[in-house]
Amino acid sequence: MRFSYLISFLCIVFSISACTNTEQEYLVIKGATLYDGTGGDAIENSVIIVRNDEIDCVGIAEECSIPLGSEVIDASGKYITPGLVDAHMHFFQTGFFDSRPDAMDLNETYPFPEVAAFQQQNPQRYYDTYLCSGITAVYDVGGMSWSVGLQESAETNPMAPHVAAAGPLLTPVPGAPFDLPSDRVLVQLDSEETGVKMVQYMSALGSTGIKFWMLRADDEEYMKRVEAAAEEIKERGNQMIAHATSLEQAKAALRNGTKLLVHSVENTEIDEEFIELAKANGTFYNPTLIVSAGYMLAYRAAADIAPIQINDPNGCVDQKTRELITTASQFKDHPRLTEGFKERLRSFDPDTDMTRQMLLQNLKKVYKAGIPIVVGTDAGNPGTLHGISIFDEMEAMQSAGIPPGDLIVMATKNGAESMRRLDDFGTLERGKFGNLIMMDKDPAEDISNMRSLTHVMIKGNLKEVEDIQKN
Ligand SMILES: [Zn+2]
Repeated sequence: MRFSYLISFLCIVFSISACTNTEQEYLVIKGATLYDGTGGDAIENSVIIVRNDEIDCVGIAEECSIPLGSEVIDASGKYITPGLVDAHMHFFQTGFFDSRPDAMDLNETYPFPEVAAFQQQNPQRYYDTYLCSGITAVYDVGGMSWSVGLQESAETNPMAPHVAAAGPLLTPVPGAPFDLPSDRVLVQLDSEETGVKMVQYMSALGSTGIKFWMLRADDEEYMKRVEAAAEEIKERGNQMIAHATSLEQAKAALRNGTKLLVHSVENTEIDEEFIELAKANGTFYNPTLIVSAGYMLAYRAAADIAPIQINDPNGCVDQKTRELITTASQFKDHPRLTEGFKERLRSFDPDTDMTRQMLLQNLKKVYKAGIPIVVGTDAGNPGTLHGISIFDEMEAMQSAGIPPGDLIVMATKNGAESMRRLDDFGTLERGKFGNLIMMDKDPAEDISNMRSLTHVMIKGNLKEVEDIQKN
């Protein structure tokens, strides 16, 4: 019998007045070492009191007195941080090429319209995967317009992470491979009017951010269209997001007020001007280190060179994704996989790719300059699986020399702020959502210890991670 049931039983029998309204109202976790997400010192022997879905008190025993009738959980020896935030993912993408016909066309086996419809109809399997991986909020920075609707449906779903979503992307290239009769991912920015209308429509739908997928910094005509759209974004109180992997593109994005850069600058070292622009905007930098290696690993699996390793001790990954990944080699004779390409795939080393020097160097520079950094995986892209990829990403970031204590802040508070939800979650403070994770090992010592995750609390519901995935 759970403690709270016992209490309510006693209340009924003895009509104890203090019992009124206490039934399962307060959940207390005590004894753990707690990092509240603000970057402050660890709180040893902490007490955290959660009332319904909200944090009521966080501190040491003297600061948080435990209300009578609380359900109390002893978490001595455990470590607690806020729930993690993946600030860069895509709900329309499956983790394989069926949702990326531009990279490898699998329409014959998996017609893209059917894949897209399935993605729209079945977000719960990913919700479970994210929660199981300790992620209590995600930012979908580009997809079909239906992704914006997930913001509201996930918010009212007790077993879903919080969702922010941008919707379709503005881009210089035609979006044909992703076009459906009724929805699309890419909108070609062919005039100022197209951009302005798109911003108006998506903002009215409630999108969090408008993303530009690649900029043409040296194309004056194109940049005029970007400027017009960027102006409208400010006008509507929305925020600009950019996929810009060269320094020139990134600076052009920053000059237009970009609040979130979702990839590293890869072509050269960032300079003073970049730093000044980013700081003036209050821009978040999302290095996204692992996604390109993911593509290569997915191609390798398709070519039957090596299967994708799924490091998933808690069974977070849903059945459908597992099937997709484990049957990848059925495409080994696909025309995309030429002999020359297979040769490259055979000699590919994922570890070197995830830690490419220019990316790590720029990350370290951004960090030293004090530009806020977020953790984002680009999950959904081939080879970068939803949920569990966050551990690889954080480890890659740590290898750039980011101290694990600061990585905790990047993966919690900064992520929440980038999705404009810091008032609601991202740190463990009174009045915010009861979103937290519990681990057996100290993540501030080594970020790999995040993998020792045992429990997640979402909106006040505490679950053992291994019990979460039902799909
Ligand atoms: Zn992305």
